[in-house]
Amino acid sequence: MDRPAIIRKTAADLRLPPNLADYAATRAAFSWDAVRAELAGLPGGRLNIAHETVERHAVGPLRDKAAFRFLGAHDTRDITYGELSRLTNRFANVLKSLGVGKGERLFLLSGRIPELYVTVLGSFKNGTVVSPLFSAFGPEPIATRIKLGEGAVLVTTELLYERKVAKIRGELPTLRHVLLVGEEGRATNVPGTLDLATLMAQASDEFDIVPTGPEDLSLLHFTSGTTGTPKGAMHVHGAVATHWATGKYALDLHAEDIYWCTADPGWVTGTSYGIIAPLLHGVTSIVDEADFDAERWYRILDEQKVSVWYTAPTAIRMLMKAGAEIAKKHSYPALRFVASVGEPLNPEAVWWGKEVLGLPIHDNWWQTETGGIMIANTPAFDIKPGSMGRPLPGIEAAIVKKESDGKVSPVDTADTEGELALKRGWPSMLRGYLHNEERYRKCFAGEWYLTGDLAKRDADGYFWFVGRADDVIKSAGHLIGPFEVESALMEHPAVAEAGVIGKPDEMVGEVVKAFVSLKKGFEACEALRMELLGHARKKLGAAVAPKEIDFLPSLPRTRSGKIMRRLLKARELGLPEGDTSTLEGGA
Ligand code: AMP
Repeated sequence: MDRPAIIRKTAADLRLPPNLADYAATRAAFSWDAVRAELAGLPGGRLNIAHETVERHAVGPLRDKAAFRFLGAHDTRDITYGELSRLTNRFANVLKSLGVGKGERLFLLSGRIPELYVTVLGSFKNGTVVSPLFSAFGPEPIATRIKLGEGAVLVTTELLYERKVAKIRGELPTLRHVLLVGEEGRATNVPGTLDLATLMAQASDEFDIVPTGPEDLSLLHFTSGTTGTPKGAMHVHGAVATHWATGKYALDLHAEDIYWCTADPGWVTGTSYGIIAPLLHGVTSIVDEADFDAERWYRILDEQKVSVWYTAPTAIRMLMKAGAEIAKKHSYPALRFVASVGEPLNPEAVWWGKEVLGLPIHDNWWQTETGGIMIANTPAFDIKPGSMGRPLPGIEAAIVKKESDGKVSPVDTADTEGELALKRGWPSMLRGYLHNEERYRKCFAGEWYLTGDLAKRDADGYFWFVGRADDVIKSAGHLIGPFEVESALMEHPAVAEAGVIGKPDEMVGEVVKAFVSLKKGFEACEALRMELLGHARKKLGAAVAPKEIDFLPSLPRTRSGKIMRRLLKARELGLPEGDTSTLEGGA
């Protein structure tokens, strides 16, 4: 079908007056201080995310409004702002009674259950730093992150503990307490752990928020790079100003919205926009505890009267694949805005939204390090399908080129490819990588934060994603570091060397593909391939493990010994091999 390059918006496309009506005027008048003035704050210039998201509403007119509606397997449970205040007070008291203090790290490993949300917000109240783990991680990524983050507490479920944590517990000496959520509310009795429900029942529901400052740490989000261990991106309570502004402008939240963010809180979207931003704006959030299911998702959009929906390209492609017939079994009169993040959103997906849901999908861009949405298509913008949109108020974005002296300078000409950079200083910018000052410093060149993404800006100021500047892999919206996968494969006795790439995939963006060479005495065969796939899956978990493994006699390396993943990828895809002058034994 021939479709125009631009979807023009008119007043008829807007169900409510948009929060960002005049882009140029709002950007010109914008100041972060004005946003901070919208926050309640704590006495003495202090700030705590839990106060802004929960306490402020719990003592006002929103006290009895549902903050979350949890859709479980068998039932639905609403938690009001007032109840969320009491539950999070209890959890903060649990931490206090265990001697867990301000700045200590609590790790979280669970599905989207109410306890997860209570734990995050209760930890903020206690000044404890939260580090969420993805529940589909295997034991190895879990151990790596808890060790790097020197976790003092882990909150998880009995099932996940027994499957993934019990066997690595001995490797985690900093972990003083493990709090377990029992299956279907049952009390747990696992040696070396505590039952969360029992502790909650014994705790008081009154708590004075620990007076954190805007620069105190709130969240530690692990993300992957090309080399080395995962990086712990440190975020602060002051980031809440970005969550407030982006909840308003990028997600266009209005008080009466029913909002559904499908992201898992094991990743940054699930905390910034699955927990913090909607609560700041006093809306009701839907939380689906189940895994993806096309029929179920359409039913939720319909029955829960979702008005603002924030989802991801892989999910949209899976809905597209399931066919429009299922979508047509339902109707979506309440739905007024759909946004997507995490990977490139194909123009067909933008149009599919318009044709099937009656609304185009609005792509937006950000990353773990930015803490919040930076570039977006908002309800009043014309959409250029395939573009990530324009920088939000308060955000300066540019395409930069590196000069020979290492400095960078913005490229003024339109449609030129280069690295996407952001002018430093927005409130939710990471404050460092835990114990990795050098890597953090490398993210900046003068006043610019370098994103590691390649992009272009067109003459109208719209940004277009081109690709990653490094070797990290984006699979189903999850960032995967090739080094972590290679290391797990190398632990198998048959593997001499491993190189891991992202192989383009229509559904999930990229799948993890590994190339291995074998040690002397091992034969490449189907049985060994299956064994290696199983080995990796057991160690890394389904979300990270390779889906394909090929054997090679040896892997291409640079003269300095680094595996040339770029070359492996070019060969896999039948693309030109590019500059191979550094190839060991090469030209
Ligand atoms: P993460 O830190 O895991 O959230 O991953 C961030 C990365 O995901 C970005 O640096 C991009 O490479 C990619 N990404 C996020 N949003 C988009 C988008 N709208 N279009 C293309 N890539 C995106």
